[in-house]
Amino acid sequence: MSSSAPHDPSAPDLSSGDGAHEPADIRARKHPTVGHAVDGRMPDGRPRGDGAADVRPHVVIVGAGFAGLEAAKKLTDTPIRVTLVDRNNYHKFQPLLYEVAMAGLEADDIAHNVRNIFQDADNVRFRLGTVSEVDTDGKWVHLRSGDPIPYDQLILAAGAVTNDFGVEGVSEYGFPLKNVPDAVNLRNHILRQFERYDRNPDEADDGTLTFVIVGGGPTGVETAGALVELFDTLNDDFTAFDIRERARCVLLEMQEDLLPPYAESLRAYTREVLEARGVEVMTETVVERVDEHAVHLNGGNTIPTQTLVWAAGVKASPVVDMVGPVEKASDGRVVVNPELAIPGHPDIYAVGDLAAIQGEDGYEPQLAQVAMQSGRHAAENILSRINNRTTESFTYSDLGQMATIGRNAAVAELAGGLKFKGLIAWLMWVVIHIAKIVGFRNRASAFVNWAYNYFTYSRSARLLLDVVPISDDLSMEVEEIDRTVKQRLKEVEAGA
Ligand SMILES: Cc1cc2nc3c(=O)[nH]c(=O)nc-3n(C[C@H](O)[C@H](O)[C@H](O)COP(=O)(O)OP(=O)(O)OC[C@H]3O[C@@H](n4cnc5c(N)ncnc54)[C@H](O)[C@@H]3O)c2cc1C
Repeated sequence: MSSSAPHDPSAPDLSSGDGAHEPADIRARKHPTVGHAVDGRMPDGRPRGDGAADVRPHVVIVGAGFAGLEAAKKLTDTPIRVTLVDRNNYHKFQPLLYEVAMAGLEADDIAHNVRNIFQDADNVRFRLGTVSEVDTDGKWVHLRSGDPIPYDQLILAAGAVTNDFGVEGVSEYGFPLKNVPDAVNLRNHILRQFERYDRNPDEADDGTLTFVIVGGGPTGVETAGALVELFDTLNDDFTAFDIRERARCVLLEMQEDLLPPYAESLRAYTREVLEARGVEVMTETVVERVDEHAVHLNGGNTIPTQTLVWAAGVKASPVVDMVGPVEKASDGRVVVNPELAIPGHPDIYAVGDLAAIQGEDGYEPQLAQVAMQSGRHAAENILSRINNRTTESFTYSDLGQMATIGRNAAVAELAGGLKFKGLIAWLMWVVIHIAKIVGFRNRASAFVNWAYNYFTYSRSARLLLDVVPISDDLSMEVEEIDRTVKQRLKEVEAGA
């Protein structure tokens, strides 16, 4: 809040009426909802532009995933200014990434433009950028490029990143499935492996059409189930050889069963269906090393492959490290207090996959529902603080869990212990997933694509539309990189 800023009588009184004209540092100490950052200057001394004269409290949300989106929605149409920052200009529905990777849906079906979601929300602004630093003293969020953003209250909702658990070769040769470019890249690679084989089967080796998926949780199970369906579709495309005879889908899990958190009957059903559909399931199997041509397992076994899909787990986004020394759980998540703020940082909330939220049986799982509920709760607590109401502790309301195995087969365990499997669970899964996709067009398009695939026994998104796979972190810098690469190419050509 600039000392020269006009006072807006409609703005909430954050400071019991006396703080607005105090020097910023004193004000920040006395009134924790208002920080240094609102005193009209950038950290480098330049006058602030946009928003400098706005006396409303400013909440910055990092991440437009499930948690960040819910928080921003909760703060829409309140007397608060909200800036939602994400390195992508879209929100992605991660539970269906595997459908994009396995050619069942288009990337557009599961991703929705964030600006479009908030186009009618006057108090919410979207900013495209990768957060690179958080200055907790000055209360600034710094981006990889562009001006930093001042905050009064910060919600960290940057999610998680793939965890390779230090296994040698995974980051070089494995295919992660965490972001939209990962899914498109994996789909292109799989389609290309079949093209390679078709072009010259004599040059292909055992690994060309062997696809290994690591991780027997929902993502691994869903990916394996969809991959064998893709084999069936491709069998009609590639008439020169029998794909069902040549292609292998191997699912590896280090524990003794697939879908470890599910009831035993559902776990057994999952394995039975996958094996009946041609997936080779190997449990109690640990990946020790991966190279260009094979995955090396415990006990000395090796599976030749050029495709290792890594669905073995995630760890908290590195954004948690930007806050400075904080208590962390063993998987790197930042431990939060019951109100979801980071201890020692009352103005910084952490929600979703990057937060270790204490539940009845340990920390809550990294699930979409936990993320959505915690995002909403942090926003509610911010509103309570601003309105001088008491903040509330978070309690996760568990609605249950479900995973699909493929056509007409899924498992579901609802809150209260009700269990379903087979067609009924699959129908529940389809309805819930379509309902949860953000955006009417996306829902309609996903529904049409699924219905088409269902009735034609086909996976229709089989175009090889190559994009150079780039890190999600570099979304804003892509054009710059492109220019540099083109310039370098010109230099190389000129020198040749
Ligand atoms: C393949 C897959 C399948 C899944 N299936 C299920 C399922 O079936 N059911 C279920 O409940 N859960 C599922 N999950 C888990 C669920 O998707 C997560 O729990 C949920 O997405 C967490 O929400 P979040 O908002 O914390 O993080 P995310 O949804 O990951 O959102 C984080 C956002 O932060 C942005 N971001 C990250 N770093 C930065 C930065 N430095 N600067 C700016 N922006 C940044 C990202 O671009 C992203 O938009 C699945 C996850 C994956 C990967």
